[in-house]
Amino acid sequence: RVASAKWLGTRAFSQSTARLATLLLVEHKDAVLSPATLNALTAAGKLSQPVTALVAGSQAKAVAESVAKYEHVSKVLLAEDAAYDHGLPEVYAPLVVATQKQLSAEHVVAAHTAFGKSILPRAAAILDVAQVSDITAVEGSDTFVRPVYAGNAIATVRTKDPIKIVTVRTTAFPAAAIKGEVATVEKAPTADTQSPTAWVGEEVSKSDRPELAGAKIVVSGGRAFKSKENFDMVYKLADALGAAVGASRAAVDAGYCDNSLQVGQTGKIVAPELYVALGISGAIQHLAGMKDSKIIVAVNKDPDCPIFQVADYGLVGDIFKLVPELTEKVAAS
Ligand code: FAD
Repeated sequence: RVASAKWLGTRAFSQSTARLATLLLVEHKDAVLSPATLNALTAAGKLSQPVTALVAGSQAKAVAESVAKYEHVSKVLLAEDAAYDHGLPEVYAPLVVATQKQLSAEHVVAAHTAFGKSILPRAAAILDVAQVSDITAVEGSDTFVRPVYAGNAIATVRTKDPIKIVTVRTTAFPAAAIKGEVATVEKAPTADTQSPTAWVGEEVSKSDRPELAGAKIVVSGGRAFKSKENFDMVYKLADALGAAVGASRAAVDAGYCDNSLQVGQTGKIVAPELYVALGISGAIQHLAGMKDSKIIVAVNKDPDCPIFQVADYGLVGDIFKLVPELTEKVAAS
């Protein structure tokens, strides 16, 4: 939904001076600022000024102080409350709305991560406006570019809503840099933290490898590996390269690896310096998650498979022979 029933008209709205600010929703985990927020901040810097960052959680003070050092941020609002500790969208959304109202913010921005994707649509629903999701460029204060049909078409959309709720594709914007002066940290408005949902627990997979979404090199494996044991080859090559591990959905569905490794339309979107696709056919849903990688290397036994259409370097052959050979050569170099 792009048009809102409550639209007042672009002209009428642009004449108003009241609503000129951007609210950035800050994501963090274990008191560490999420790098994705810094990409969203760069997008926020192209929207209504000033930019105010919203940080919430009982241990979030250090994060607030860290965000305050970045360019574009003119103020940080901190909600120090344990109710926000687990990122429950039902709890966060009223806080986002209360802060948007206090600032009269025209734009509300977050990274297009699981966190941003679950909170902002709820805030948009409360505000009765549409959300513009997964933007890759800012064309104007109401006009954004975003991929559609799994990245096969690029749409330019204009929202007529007075408040623009926007999630940002992190790979499309560089991370914001630290600036000279430090913004002030103030208390965020209070909001209702009562929620029908409660946090019960979480199982977080731990890995010494780089995080998939922000890694410079990603090595991904596909269905061709045939088993969880064989998929070990992907980890070995990744470790030799200092890379993160990814996978196609077929490999995830077959149980060769954890589903947090899935790259693609319904997985993670990555754009590393180097993406190595091993035994992956290159279905459009997979390409949607990796085709913006700087250099793509593919190993596949089928010379006609679609992955070779996007690959910069292609190796036609058997992964069971070529991957151990590659790993050995990389480790020796
Ligand atoms: P296959 O398509 O089976 O390809 C295996 C490849 O390995 C083939 O090209 C074959 O030539 C090659 N091969 C086989 N044996 C060897 C060997 N010994 N040596 C070398 N090469 C070999 N997929 C994703 O990846 N990510 C997504 O997010 C995603 N989202 C989806 C969302 C929707 C709504 C739908 C409908 C599908 C989605 N898919 C997604 C699934 C996608 O359509 C493909 O089915 C999937 O990507 C195929 O995975 P694959 O390339 O590993 O397997």
